[in-house]
Amino acid sequence: MAEVMNETKTTPETAGDDIIVVKDLKKYFPTATNFFGKALGYVKAVDGVSFTIKRGTTMGLVGESGCGKSTTGRTLLRLQDKTSGEVLFNGVDIFSLSKEELRKMRPRIQIVFQDPFSSLSPRLPIGEIIGEAVREHGIVPPEEYDDYISRIMKACGLQEYHKDRYPHEFSGGQRQRICIARALALNPEFIVCDEPVSALDVSIQAQIINLLRELQQEFGLTYLFISHDLSVVEHISDTVGVMYLGNMVEYAETDELFANPLHPYTKALFSAIPIPDPDAQMNRIILEGSIPSPANPPSGCKFHTRCSECMEMCKHCQPEYREINPGHFAACHLYNTPEMNAKFEAEAAKVAEDKKKAVSEGKQVEAVEKAK
Ligand code: SF4
Repeated sequence: MAEVMNETKTTPETAGDDIIVVKDLKKYFPTATNFFGKALGYVKAVDGVSFTIKRGTTMGLVGESGCGKSTTGRTLLRLQDKTSGEVLFNGVDIFSLSKEELRKMRPRIQIVFQDPFSSLSPRLPIGEIIGEAVREHGIVPPEEYDDYISRIMKACGLQEYHKDRYPHEFSGGQRQRICIARALALNPEFIVCDEPVSALDVSIQAQIINLLRELQQEFGLTYLFISHDLSVVEHISDTVGVMYLGNMVEYAETDELFANPLHPYTKALFSAIPIPDPDAQMNRIILEGSIPSPANPPSGCKFHTRCSECMEMCKHCQPEYREINPGHFAACHLYNTPEMNAKFEAEAAKVAEDKKKAVSEGKQVEAVEKAK
């Protein structure tokens, strides 16, 4: 993958720079519209998420199905429009680019999808699937094209004679290698891996994870690794963000997060990780109920309906997402400062008072109407 891939973007000077900066990103989907096309309600799939990813590292994004992790990944690549917020790639706001500028940037920001079968055209041979966009974007001169595709395939554990075969002739693991080769062929800097191993057998998962790590080291790639499998995320990620109902509830370096989870939701998720020791005692925290609808999320802390440590203020006031320990962020009232507690308790008391008042006023109106 010599010349082109040797233009690796991670050099000693650039390693550790912020390649992706996400600021207060929101993505709402209208649930229904009125006669004039105005939205009547929204599913708040991503509701104000902020994080940064350092060049040459992997950030894991975890959470239950429907928490907004895939929507975050797709929105930050501008595969769909945002509702608000900012996404900077190498300091450039992706949403400020014109169509032509975005087209030129596309090869540098790639995605690998969960289902390697449906993301490959069944009518094209593998060589064409990998090479189509290489030609379109002029990644290498035409005379080097064939050789380049062969080298990319080899780097991803595929053989040259696979070029003329079709996707249905491959196993799930090989198909995912083809998807990775297709992304890698465009010489990207940043790849969103959206549940790339969830559809694969455990032994094949390990092969793909190892391949992703090897390619990262060789070509200085940066990944956003989306998964609900915490063991896989722990293995591959440098930092991890935990999402719940469209919000980032905790973020830290992987070692720190797994050793010292702060948020009750993270603790519950981690308590479900199987321990490969038959004598080990599992202290599993069972989360009651299912994840609430993002179209009608609970007030205050969105997790309060399932949290075993819920306090009165949690029901009315949204916790601040802030740095609790150096580099370790969480959004939970358990870690409030005394000043914050005083502020939120006063707010919660006021909301409770207002609610009481509204109920009693409603009762009075009811009584008057009945008397009439
Ligand atoms: Fe639980 Fe309250 Fe923390 Fe939310 S803010 S996670 S309800 S303790």
